[in-house]
Formats: sequence, structure tokens, C-alpha cells
Amino acid sequence: MSIQSLVLMLALAPVGATASPRIVLAIHGGAGTLPRAETSAAREAGMRSDLERALEAGHAVIRKGGSALDAVTAAVVVLEDSPRFNAGRGAVLNAEGVAELDAAIMEGNTRRAGAVAGLTRVRNPILLARRVMEDSPHVMLIGAGAESFAESLGIALVDPSYFVTPFRRAELEAAKARERASGDAAIRRSPFHIGTVGAVALDRAGHLAAATSTGGRTNKRWGRVGDVPVIGAGTWADANCAVSATGWGEYFIRVGVAHAICARVALKGETVAQAAEVVLADVASLGGDGGVIVLDALGRATLPYNTAGMARGTIDADGRIEIRIWED
Ligand code: ASP
Repeated sequence: MSIQSLVLMLALAPVGATASPRIVLAIHGGAGTLPRAETSAAREAGMRSDLERALEAGHAVIRKGGSALDAVTAAVVVLEDSPRFNAGRGAVLNAEGVAELDAAIMEGNTRRAGAVAGLTRVRNPILLARRVMEDSPHVMLIGAGAESFAESLGIALVDPSYFVTPFRRAELEAAKARERASGDAAIRRSPFHIGTVGAVALDRAGHLAAATSTGGRTNKRWGRVGDVPVIGAGTWADANCAVSATGWGEYFIRVGVAHAICARVALKGETVAQAAEVVLADVASLGGDGGVIVLDALGRATLPYNTAGMARGTIDADGRIEIRIWED
């Protein structure tokens, strides 16, 4: 091999390239207490197939040269439409028995962001978050104002009953029974609590984006807003780092999890894996738990969590998929 071609090969190799593949999309379907023993084979199979469909939907966008923003939107819409996750249809119910939905999206290279909170009628909250980003001068819209904006844009609205599933009704009843028995605010722990969804993507232009969507926490107080729509807490993307979080939102807000991770990457030169580990440890030190998916501009991903499980998956540039819910 000539010196020239060796130099060319080295120049073309991505900085920090390792044997690991370039991840173009990572997704999560929520961290939480989901003991394997209490998860039916059918439920697990359903979750895995939905995660796979979401990865494929996002990857199709990237493969055709589309934007990271379109990829995270496509992946999250699939998971919002699935009744198995805590976002869109099948979201957890608040103390009044209503699904109250939060979502956010952020584009890394421009740092444009859009967020919505407290929705009860918007079929796909992530689509409205995106329109807040693209078609309003604002970053966050909430409740009735957000829904009136959705109406003015012709975004699909549904009856609040569309979101409610028997599984979430039973979960709410169980949480209320525990609350009555212990006097403990049942928002603390819910045995089936899992299912917030999120995605981070890297497109061919090298741009990153992040998106997250959730119903929040089972039995939450009406009007409660979690970390997901708080830019920098549950969702963040900049030029080098994109994060979507899931977990006990109050703690994720107090730590500013998503921004803290990317700030460590930018300012301390940590890898996304190092930064995520430190920041999740900080959440744990305050008493919170959860997980994150993080992707950098070189396609290095990390998907750590400190709960019993976290539904998660990645797809690389060649379309290779990896999906996990627990450690193995
Ligand atoms: N982080 C979400 C919230 O607190 C819930 C979750 O991710 O499970 O609203």
C-alpha cells in the first residue's frame, strides 16, 4: 500500500473509531420496575416487536438521507401509537383517571426545541411539540392553549378515552389501593411503571436530534409536569450529544439530567458513557432512578439505567438491530 493511500485511509476513518458500529438511532420504551418474572411472554414479545418497528421507521428516514429530526419523530410516533408504552395510546393515568401527556423534541445543530405538557386530546403529542418548535415563536405550550394551537394546525385530536387501556386502569386502581393502605403517595412506586418513549438519532449530515414522549407517572396529581418536556431535563440535543431520558421525573428535573450529560461531554471531554454514568449516579444520590439513551456525533451510544429494566434498542448504519429490556 502506498503512503498516500494509507494517509487517505486514516483521514477517512472517523475520529475515535473503534470496532463498535456507528449507531444512527437509539430508542427507549421506558425505565422502571418491570420484573421479568411479572412480564408475560406475550407482553414482552409485543414490546420487542414495537421497538423493532420504531427502529425501522427511524432508520428508513436516515437511510434515505433524511434528517435526524424526522427520524426521531417517526420512531416516537410508532411508540405513541402502540398501546404497550406510556406515551400516546396506553399512557399511564393521573389520579383523576385521565391520560395527561407531555412531549419534547430538540434539534442539535440549531438547538431549536419544542415541548408540550398536560395534553389530553392530542393523538401524537410529539407531532405537536415539533410544530411548537417549527411554527411558533415559543418553546413550550401547555394544556388548553397547546390543544387550541393543535386545532388551528389541523393536528389529529381524539377523545380522551382513546388513550385509556384496561392495563393502565388496573395499574391506577392498584396504585390507589396501595396509597390507601400505606398513606404513601403512590407516585413513588408503581409495580408496572414503565413505558415512557424516546429516541436519539444521527443523520448523514452529522446532525443529532432527540425526542421524548410520556404520560408521566401513574396516579400523578392533575397538572403535574415531569422532566420530559423540560428542555435540558428529559430531552436535549446539541451539536455533539443528544439525550432522551426516562425515570423519576422530579429528580431528573432537579439534576437537569439531559443537559448535564451533554455539558460534561462538551466541557470535560468525557465520553457519552462516562458522562451518563456520573449524572445517573447523581440522580441516585438524591433518591431518584431511571435511565437515559445518549448518542454522540460519531455514532457512539450509551443506554444506561439504574432500575430493574429499561426497554431499549439501537440500529446501526447497516441496519443491524439490538433490542433489550433487562440486562441479558
Ligand atoms: N420521566 C417520566 C416522568 O416523570 C416518567 C418515566 O420516564 O417513566 O414524567
